[in-house]
Amino acid sequence: MALLITKKCINCDMCEPECPNQAISMGDAIYQIDTDRCTECVGHYETPTCQKVCPIPSTIISDPAHIENEEQLWDKFVLLHHADKL
Ligand code: SF4
Ligand code: SF4
Repeated sequence: MALLITKKCINCDMCEPECPNQAISMGDAIYQIDTDRCTECVGHYETPTCQKVCPIPSTIISDPAHIENEEQLWDKFVLLHHADKL
């Protein structure tokens, strides 16, 4: 499942450069996550790195509107990074 940045975000800029999929960008008021690019860091890290670097607890949460299993997240990783080899 993709992750979601909630209104608790203080726009500290910590997460955006850390995302291995360039899924995080500035939205209208706070940072946002592109659900088509977020793999929960599958393929790169053991745990979501944006959650790790975010200084405000519970700001980045699982997005209940975008539930995906491990296989779907790996498919997304392959499409994002290795589409030329498919
Ligand atoms: S979980 Fe990983 S891929 Fe998803 S937005 Fe956070 S850093 Fe990017
Ligand atoms: S690290 Fe957390 S508080 Fe900082 S911009 Fe990202 S979501 Fe917002």
